[in-house]
Parts: sequence; C-alpha cells; structure tokens
Amino acid sequence: MAANTTTPIRIGIVGVGKIVRDQHLPALAKNADYRLVATASRSAGVDGVASFHTIEEMLAAVPDLDAVSLCMPPQYRYRAAHTALLAGKHVFLEKPPGATVSEVEDLKALAAEKGVSLFASWHSRYAPAVEAARTFLAANRPTAVAINWKEDVRRWHPNQEWIWQAGGLGVFDPGINALSITTHILPKALFVTQATLEFPENRDAPIAAQITFSDADGLVVKADFDWRQTGPQSWDIFAETAAGQMVLSAGGAKLAVAGRTVHEEPEAEYPLLYKRFAEIVKAGVSDVDIAPLRHVADAFLLGRHAFVEPFFD
Ligand code: NAP
Repeated sequence: MAANTTTPIRIGIVGVGKIVRDQHLPALAKNADYRLVATASRSAGVDGVASFHTIEEMLAAVPDLDAVSLCMPPQYRYRAAHTALLAGKHVFLEKPPGATVSEVEDLKALAAEKGVSLFASWHSRYAPAVEAARTFLAANRPTAVAINWKEDVRRWHPNQEWIWQAGGLGVFDPGINALSITTHILPKALFVTQATLEFPENRDAPIAAQITFSDADGLVVKADFDWRQTGPQSWDIFAETAAGQMVLSAGGAKLAVAGRTVHEEPEAEYPLLYKRFAEIVKAGVSDVDIAPLRHVADAFLLGRHAFVEPFFD
C-alpha cells in the first residue's frame, strides 16, 4: 500500500444512487481488501454505515478514511474529487471521470502532487470477453469496425434529469462504454473524422449520435448510438478480419469469430474494478486513461448538431 494506506482500505462512497446499490455495494461487500466506513449523499445512506450529507462533512468526521468512490453524476465529480485529493485520499471515479477533459487532467496532476492514486474507472473494459477480443485483434488486423450501441433510455435511465442536462452526456453515457472497449481492443489510436449528434429540441444532450473514426492506417470505425431502441437491446462491436467477422456482443460479455462463440463468461465488472483499484493503491500509481472522454469531446467539437422531436420521460 502507499505509505499512508493499510489493508483493508477504509473507503467512503459519495452519491448513493442506482449504480452504488446495483454494483458498488455488492462488489465491496465481497472484497476483503475494503471496509465501507461512510457515505455522503443528500438523500440516501447505507444501513449500518455512518452517513453524511456532503463529502466535506464525511471527511471532517472520518479523518482516517483512505479512499473515496465518487458515484454522483459527472457534472459534480470534479469538485468532490478535488476536495478528496486535497485531503490526501485515493479516489475512484465512476465513469465518465468528469464533465470535461481538462478537469480530469487537473485531477491527475493533483493526485501526482499529493502522492495518492486516482482511478478513472471504465467498467465495460472489464467485461468478460474484452481481453479475448483485444488479443484476437492484435493477431488479426481489422479492415472495418462497426459499433451498434442502441438501447431504450426509458428503461435504463427513467427520470434521470442530469443525464439530459449539459455535461450529462445524453446517449454518450452508454456510448462512452462502447468507446472504452473500442479504444482498448483496437491496436492503434483513433480519431473522430465525422459526427452527427441528434438533440431532442427540448433537451441539452443528444438522444442519438453517428460517429466515424479513423486511425493512422485509414481504418474506418463507424459508431451508431441510439437511445430510442425498444425491444431487444444492442451493445455490439463488429470487426471484419481475414479470419472472419469478429462479434463482441452483450456489452463485451461474449465473443464470436466467423459465427463460432470463442469466449463467454458471467460478468464481474465491478469486482474487477475494485480489484484494480486496490492494486493501484498498493502500487502507489494512478490509472487515468482519458481516451473515451476525449472522443466524446471531439464528437461534440466536430459534430454536426441536428434537432429532433422533443423527448418526454
Ligand atoms: P443516479 O442514481 O441518478 O445518481 C447517483 C446519486 O448521485 C444520486 O442518487 C444522488 O444522491 C447523487 N446526485 C444526483 N444529483 C446530484 C447533484 N446535483 N449533486 C450531487 N449529487 C447528486 O445515477 P447512477 O445511475 O447511479 O449513475 C451515477 C454515475 O454512475 C454516472 O456517472 C453514470 O454514468 C455511472 N454509471 C451508471 C450506471 C447505471 O447502470 N446506472 C452504470 C455504470 C456507471 P443524493 O441525492 O443522495 O445526493
């Protein structure tokens, strides 16, 4: 562990909402490297754990906290992360790591200055078949890639106002998961060459986006993100190769090549995220890859904005 941290890591969670209840609490409960000792949330807590309304109150009342997980919407992550890093705490950032690229860079520099670990978590990178896809594509150069990330926003994000506000990312909230996988499995760095972002006329964030990327070798990657898909949901990445089509489906859970399943396992994304966080704390390093957020920023920078019919929950 870093000089000021012993096991178990005494951790506090900030922003107790859907993802905390669905994933963080079960993952922490099963990991002996952690003890959840406090939460900071305006309207929720966790049974048996000291609860506070703000991160400032939590840090003042529990000074021997080692680390915090920041699970609020992205627009509010920077201020909490800055406060925690200044107090010398290791910080786990939910995805996306911030609302802008620059604020994440600032946090990275502050973590280095304070000698603590900063983790920009990308849970989809820990989906079971992602490493197998990366290995396959390292040996079999893709000639074209298509990303289909289409889901029903009413089913997955009911009444989440923040997601439709500026900085909430809209359809890029799930789309950035696809980008976190794609940037990890492709052999070369990508850049956006063209994009169209579709905004409901009553919202500040897009409901759909079509983006084209390229790399230095001219590989074309087309991404189609859409929040209006009812019925079966699509979280798939297709890569054409000389060995046949590679399909990474179910959000990275299943890999098939030339129609044959080559890798499928139950998902364990959050247990693996917390395993990684403990590793970097122990090693005294940070893990902050900004590429998925940078691509979203580039799509906003380069993309054409189209207005579509209003969206009501
Ligand atoms: P959520 O339930 O809407 O929000 C999480 C909590 O953040 C809320 O319960 C709220 O707690 C706090 N919060 C909300 N607005 C806030 C504000 N203005 N200022 C400070 N705190 C605020 O959202 P979520 O689905 O858990 O997502 C949170 C983050 O996790 C997002 O970045 C999302 O992309 C990421 N994520 C979500 C999922 C998912 O399936 N939902 C999956 C992976 C990652 P209090 O009201 O008690 O303060």
